[in-house]
Amino acid sequence: MTGTIEIVLLGTGSPIPDPRCAGPATLVRAGGTTLLVDCGRGVLMRAAAVGAVAGSLDAVLLTHLHSDHITDLNDVITSRWVTSMAPSPLRLFGPPGTKQVVDAILESLRCDIGYRVGHHEDLTWEPPVEVIELTESPVLELGAVRVVAAPTDHRPVHPTVGYRVECGDRAVALAGDTVPCPGLDELCAGADALVHTVIRDDLIRAIPIQRLQDVCDYHSSVADAARTAAKAGVGTLVLTHYVPTLVPGDEGVWRAQAAEHFAGRVEVGPDLHTVTI
Ligand SMILES: [Zn+2]
Ligand SMILES: [Zn+2]
Repeated sequence: MTGTIEIVLLGTGSPIPDPRCAGPATLVRAGGTTLLVDCGRGVLMRAAAVGAVAGSLDAVLLTHLHSDHITDLNDVITSRWVTSMAPSPLRLFGPPGTKQVVDAILESLRCDIGYRVGHHEDLTWEPPVEVIELTESPVLELGAVRVVAAPTDHRPVHPTVGYRVECGDRAVALAGDTVPCPGLDELCAGADALVHTVIRDDLIRAIPIQRLQDVCDYHSSVADAARTAAKAGVGTLVLTHYVPTLVPGDEGVWRAQAAEHFAGRVEVGPDLHTVTI
Protein backbone atom coordinates (compact mmCIF):
# COMPACT_ATOMS: atom_id res chain seq x y z
CA MET A 1 0.00 0.00 0.00
CA THR A 2 1.31 3.44 -0.80
CA GLY A 3 0.75 6.32 1.52
CA THR A 4 1.58 9.97 1.40
CA ILE A 5 2.90 11.78 4.42
CA GLU A 6 2.77 15.56 4.66
CA ILE A 7 5.24 17.25 6.98
CA VAL A 8 4.62 20.89 7.92
CA LEU A 9 7.28 22.79 9.84
CA LEU A 10 4.91 24.79 12.02
CA GLY A 11 7.67 26.36 14.05
CA THR A 12 11.34 26.39 13.10
CA GLY A 13 12.57 28.57 15.95
CA SER A 14 14.41 28.01 19.19
CA PRO A 15 14.11 29.39 22.73
CA ILE A 16 15.12 32.84 21.45
CA PRO A 17 11.96 34.78 20.48
CA ASP A 18 11.98 35.77 16.85
CA PRO A 19 9.35 37.69 14.89
CA ARG A 20 9.51 35.21 11.99
CA CYS A 21 9.85 31.89 13.77
CA ALA A 22 7.39 30.12 16.02
CA GLY A 23 8.76 27.67 18.55
CA PRO A 24 9.57 24.04 17.74
CA ALA A 25 6.55 22.14 16.39
CA THR A 26 5.94 19.90 13.40
CA LEU A 27 2.64 18.73 11.98
CA VAL A 28 2.44 15.30 10.33
CA ARG A 29 -0.64 14.44 8.27
CA ALA A 30 -1.18 11.06 6.65
CA GLY A 31 -4.21 8.99 5.71
CA GLY A 32 -6.58 11.40 7.44
CA THR A 33 -4.62 11.27 10.70
CA THR A 34 -3.05 14.42 12.13
CA LEU A 35 -0.19 14.30 14.60
CA LEU A 36 1.55 17.21 16.29
CA VAL A 37 5.16 16.76 17.35
CA ASP A 38 6.08 19.24 20.10
CA CYS A 39 4.18 22.39 21.05
CA GLY A 40 6.47 25.39 20.84
CA ARG A 41 5.57 29.05 21.01
CA GLY A 42 2.74 29.99 18.66
CA VAL A 43 1.95 26.45 17.60
CA LEU A 44 -1.81 26.89 17.18
CA MET A 45 -1.38 30.15 15.32
CA ARG A 46 0.81 28.41 12.76
CA ALA A 47 -1.44 25.31 12.70
CA ALA A 48 -4.40 27.54 11.84
CA ALA A 49 -2.53 28.67 8.74
CA VAL A 50 -2.71 25.12 7.37
CA GLY A 51 -6.23 24.37 8.51
CA ALA A 52 -5.35 22.39 11.61
CA VAL A 53 -6.96 23.12 14.96
CA ALA A 54 -6.48 21.67 18.43
CA GLY A 55 -9.69 19.67 18.14
CA SER A 56 -8.50 17.93 14.98
CA LEU A 57 -5.31 16.49 16.46
CA ASP A 58 -5.34 12.72 16.77
CA ALA A 59 -2.34 12.81 19.09
CA VAL A 60 0.45 15.02 20.34
CA LEU A 61 3.93 13.51 20.52
CA LEU A 62 6.43 15.27 22.78
CA THR A 63 10.10 14.61 22.17
CA HIS A 64 11.16 16.08 25.51
CA LEU A 65 10.18 18.51 28.18
CA HIS A 66 12.51 21.43 27.46
CA SER A 67 10.45 24.58 27.82
CA ASP A 68 10.71 25.70 24.19
CA HIS A 69 9.14 22.43 23.03
CA ILE A 70 6.14 22.64 25.37
CA THR A 71 5.56 26.41 25.65
CA ASP A 72 2.08 26.25 24.15
CA LEU A 73 0.96 22.83 25.36
CA ASN A 74 -1.39 24.71 27.66
CA ASP A 75 -2.92 26.42 24.62
CA VAL A 76 -3.43 23.08 22.85
CA ILE A 77 -5.09 21.59 25.93
CA THR A 78 -7.35 24.59 26.58
CA SER A 79 -8.29 25.30 22.98
CA ARG A 80 -9.23 21.68 22.33
CA TRP A 81 -11.33 21.65 25.48
CA VAL A 82 -13.28 24.86 24.89
CA THR A 83 -13.99 24.06 21.24
CA SER A 84 -15.20 20.48 21.79
CA MET A 85 -18.93 19.94 22.07
CA ALA A 86 -18.36 16.65 23.92
CA PRO A 87 -15.42 15.34 25.96
CA SER A 88 -12.58 14.68 23.54
CA PRO A 89 -9.50 13.45 25.40
CA LEU A 90 -6.19 14.72 24.02
CA ARG A 91 -3.88 11.74 23.51
CA LEU A 92 -0.46 12.92 24.57
CA PHE A 93 2.67 10.81 24.26
CA GLY A 94 5.91 11.92 25.85
CA PRO A 95 8.83 10.85 28.02
CA PRO A 96 8.48 10.16 31.75
CA GLY A 97 7.74 13.50 33.40
CA THR A 98 5.01 14.36 30.91
CA LYS A 99 2.25 13.58 33.39
CA GLN A 100 3.86 15.86 35.97
CA VAL A 101 3.97 18.66 33.40
CA VAL A 102 0.35 18.15 32.37
CA ASP A 103 -0.83 18.02 35.98
CA ALA A 104 0.97 21.31 36.65
CA ILE A 105 -0.51 22.93 33.53
CA LEU A 106 -3.99 21.88 34.55
CA GLU A 107 -3.35 23.25 38.02
CA SER A 108 -2.21 26.57 36.54
CA LEU A 109 -5.45 26.66 34.55
CA ARG A 110 -7.58 25.98 37.63
CA CYS A 111 -9.08 29.50 37.68
CA ASP A 112 -9.83 29.44 33.95
CA ILE A 113 -11.41 26.00 34.14
CA GLY A 114 -13.62 27.25 36.95
CA TYR A 115 -14.68 30.35 35.00
CA ARG A 116 -15.63 28.41 31.88
CA VAL A 117 -17.41 25.52 33.55
CA GLY A 118 -19.29 28.07 35.67
CA HIS A 119 -20.24 30.16 32.62
CA HIS A 120 -21.20 27.60 29.96
CA GLU A 121 -24.12 25.38 30.91
CA ASP A 122 -23.13 22.73 28.35
CA LEU A 123 -19.49 22.59 29.40
CA THR A 124 -19.63 20.20 32.32
CA TRP A 125 -16.22 18.55 32.10
CA GLU A 126 -12.64 19.60 32.72
CA PRO A 127 -9.94 19.33 29.99
CA PRO A 128 -9.44 15.59 29.43
CA VAL A 129 -5.82 14.62 28.71
CA GLU A 130 -4.76 11.03 28.26
CA VAL A 131 -1.02 10.93 28.98
CA ILE A 132 1.05 7.98 27.78
CA GLU A 133 4.63 8.13 29.04
CA LEU A 134 7.22 6.17 27.07
CA THR A 135 10.82 6.08 26.03
CA GLU A 136 10.40 3.34 23.47
CA SER A 137 7.41 1.53 22.16
CA PRO A 138 6.20 -1.26 20.00
CA VAL A 139 4.13 -0.09 17.07
CA LEU A 140 1.30 2.18 18.18
CA GLU A 141 -1.67 2.33 15.84
CA LEU A 142 -2.96 5.91 15.70
CA GLY A 143 -5.73 6.14 13.15
CA ALA A 144 -4.27 5.41 9.74
CA VAL A 145 -0.67 5.65 10.87
CA ARG A 146 1.75 3.56 12.85
CA VAL A 147 4.07 5.24 15.32
CA VAL A 148 7.23 3.89 16.93
CA ALA A 149 9.16 5.65 19.69
CA ALA A 150 12.81 5.18 20.63
CA PRO A 151 15.15 6.87 23.10
CA THR A 152 17.37 9.70 21.92
CA ASP A 153 20.36 11.35 23.60
CA HIS A 154 19.93 14.97 24.70
CA ARG A 155 21.69 14.51 28.04
CA PRO A 156 21.70 15.94 30.60
CA VAL A 157 18.07 16.30 29.51
CA HIS A 158 16.84 12.77 30.09
CA PRO A 159 14.84 10.82 29.07
CA THR A 160 14.08 12.06 25.56
CA VAL A 161 12.25 10.40 22.69
CA GLY A 162 12.23 10.38 18.91
CA TYR A 163 9.42 9.04 16.76
CA ARG A 164 8.91 7.27 13.47
CA VAL A 165 5.56 7.73 11.73
CA GLU A 166 4.58 5.27 9.01
CA CYS A 167 1.68 5.30 6.60
CA GLY A 168 1.46 2.60 3.95
CA ASP A 169 4.96 2.21 2.57
CA ARG A 170 6.14 5.69 3.63
CA ALA A 171 7.98 6.56 6.82
CA VAL A 172 9.29 9.71 8.45
CA ALA A 173 11.52 9.91 11.51
CA LEU A 174 11.32 12.93 13.83
CA ALA A 175 14.42 13.33 15.93
CA GLY A 176 13.68 16.18 18.32
CA ASP A 177 16.81 17.49 20.06
CA THR A 178 19.54 14.86 20.20
CA VAL A 179 23.09 14.06 19.34
CA PRO A 180 23.63 11.09 17.04
CA CYS A 181 22.65 7.89 18.87
CA PRO A 182 21.56 4.28 18.26
CA GLY A 183 17.90 4.94 19.08
CA LEU A 184 17.69 7.59 16.39
CA ASP A 185 19.51 5.33 13.93
CA GLU A 186 16.81 2.69 14.47
CA LEU A 187 14.02 5.18 13.83
CA CYS A 188 15.72 6.42 10.68
CA ALA A 189 16.58 3.08 9.10
CA GLY A 190 15.27 3.19 5.54
CA ALA A 191 12.92 6.11 6.27
CA ASP A 192 11.84 8.37 3.42
CA ALA A 193 12.50 11.47 5.50
CA LEU A 194 14.20 12.60 8.69
CA VAL A 195 13.09 15.80 10.41
CA HIS A 196 16.01 16.89 12.55
CA THR A 197 16.60 19.85 14.86
CA VAL A 198 19.97 21.41 14.15
CA ILE A 199 22.41 24.06 15.25
CA ARG A 200 25.17 25.81 13.34
CA ASP A 201 28.04 24.95 15.64
CA ASP A 202 30.41 26.89 13.39
CA LEU A 203 28.55 30.10 14.26
CA ILE A 204 27.74 29.29 17.89
CA ARG A 205 31.31 28.39 18.78
CA ALA A 206 32.45 31.80 17.57
CA ILE A 207 30.33 33.60 20.18
CA PRO A 208 32.20 33.88 23.50
CA ILE A 209 29.22 33.32 25.77
CA GLN A 210 29.44 30.13 27.80
CA ARG A 211 25.68 29.64 28.00
CA LEU A 212 25.55 29.59 24.20
CA GLN A 213 28.58 27.33 23.97
CA ASP A 214 26.75 24.85 26.24
CA VAL A 215 24.10 24.46 23.53
CA CYS A 216 26.63 22.62 21.36
CA ASP A 217 26.97 19.82 23.94
CA TYR A 218 23.61 18.21 23.39
CA HIS A 219 22.39 19.17 19.92
CA SER A 220 23.25 17.87 16.50
CA SER A 221 25.11 20.16 14.14
CA VAL A 222 23.99 20.24 10.52
CA ALA A 223 26.83 17.83 9.74
CA ASP A 224 25.74 15.46 12.54
CA ALA A 225 22.17 15.39 11.21
CA ALA A 226 23.42 14.81 7.68
CA ARG A 227 25.65 11.94 8.76
CA THR A 228 22.73 10.35 10.64
CA ALA A 229 20.57 10.61 7.52
CA ALA A 230 23.29 9.20 5.28
CA LYS A 231 24.06 6.28 7.58
CA ALA A 232 20.40 5.23 7.69
CA GLY A 233 19.74 5.58 3.96
CA VAL A 234 17.15 8.31 4.47
CA GLY A 235 15.81 9.91 1.29
CA THR A 236 15.12 13.48 2.45
CA LEU A 237 16.64 15.41 5.34
CA VAL A 238 14.41 18.18 6.68
CA LEU A 239 16.20 20.69 8.89
CA THR A 240 14.33 22.64 11.57
CA HIS A 241 14.81 24.35 14.97
CA TYR A 242 17.49 26.55 13.43
CA VAL A 243 20.04 27.91 15.89
CA PRO A 244 20.81 30.65 15.18
CA THR A 245 17.66 31.69 13.34
CA LEU A 246 17.45 30.90 9.65
CA VAL A 247 17.96 34.19 7.84
CA PRO A 248 16.03 34.36 4.55
CA GLY A 249 18.52 33.95 1.73
CA ASP A 250 20.87 31.79 3.84
CA GLU A 251 19.10 28.50 3.10
CA GLY A 252 21.84 27.51 0.67
CA VAL A 253 24.52 27.71 3.36
CA TRP A 254 22.65 25.29 5.63
CA ARG A 255 21.89 23.02 2.67
CA ALA A 256 25.52 23.01 1.57
CA GLN A 257 26.73 22.04 5.04
CA ALA A 258 24.39 19.06 4.97
CA ALA A 259 25.30 18.16 1.40
CA GLU A 260 28.93 17.66 2.43
CA HIS A 261 27.81 14.52 4.27
CA PHE A 262 24.51 13.52 2.68
CA ALA A 263 23.71 12.96 -0.98
CA GLY A 264 19.90 12.99 -0.70
CA ARG A 265 17.42 15.88 -0.84
CA VAL A 266 17.88 18.52 1.88
CA GLU A 267 14.91 20.70 2.81
CA VAL A 268 15.56 24.03 4.52
CA GLY A 269 12.74 26.49 4.92
CA PRO A 270 10.87 28.89 7.17
CA ASP A 271 7.77 28.28 9.30
CA LEU A 272 5.07 26.48 7.29
CA HIS A 273 7.58 24.98 4.89
CA THR A 274 5.89 21.76 3.77
CA VAL A 275 7.46 18.55 2.55
CA THR A 276 5.44 15.69 1.10
CA ILE A 277 6.82 12.20 0.85
ZN1 LIG B 1 15.96 20.47 24.01
ZN1 LIG C 1 15.06 22.53 21.45
